[in-house]
Amino acid sequence: MKYAIFSDVHSNIDALEVVLSELAKEKIDKYICCGDIVGYGPNPNECIDRLKNAIIVAGNHDRAAIGMMDISQFNERAKAAIQWTSSNITEENKSFLASLPEKIEGENLTLVHGSPRDPINEYLLDMFSMSDNMEFFTSQICFVGHSHHPFVYSNKVGIVKVQSGDTAPLADKTIINVGSVGQPRDGDNRACYTILEDDRIKFFRCEYDIESVQEKMRQQNLPESLILRLAKGK
Ligand code: ZN
Repeated sequence: MKYAIFSDVHSNIDALEVVLSELAKEKIDKYICCGDIVGYGPNPNECIDRLKNAIIVAGNHDRAAIGMMDISQFNERAKAAIQWTSSNITEENKSFLASLPEKIEGENLTLVHGSPRDPINEYLLDMFSMSDNMEFFTSQICFVGHSHHPFVYSNKVGIVKVQSGDTAPLADKTIINVGSVGQPRDGDNRACYTILEDDRIKFFRCEYDIESVQEKMRQQNLPESLILRLAKGK
């Protein structure tokens, strides 16, 4: 089985199309998205339409955009983007987002947006939260997104930050953050995605037309700091 796993598309269809065209060159059996299809960017409906056949878990922005969670904890710019998303998403796509589960647990893989302990909201940012979460899944690998920082974690090795082209063998119980397609925050502004095959995971980055997305965001009066952030990758 060859899996493509990615996360945090955030309504960035330009980044998603480049990732999907790269993946089309591989023989991918299953496409998996760890949530936050929408929020921040200018093309929520287009991103949902492209991912309807993928295996997807819900992210906090997916839930917030359809009123399924309280957004009082969101910062002002995230709130503004969520409100814009809510009023620009079709009813059909709202129903699709509402149907997404918060956790998928298979024999070999667990999928969540935030963490296995708190699938929608918890950020896994340090080794304490990661080691605490190891007992909340039974499969060998748990895939997460949410922080937009790609890494591999096991109790034996700790946190390993990864870059484009890096591969990691998966001998132990592991948490993998697959980074972000549509709004990377690790200082590399290229879209991030991964391929899992034969107990090895490989991380990839690809360039996309950031200026085109920024232009669309300006036309929709989305917050300037979110627009600038795409180019910084932070
Ligand atoms: Zn996100």
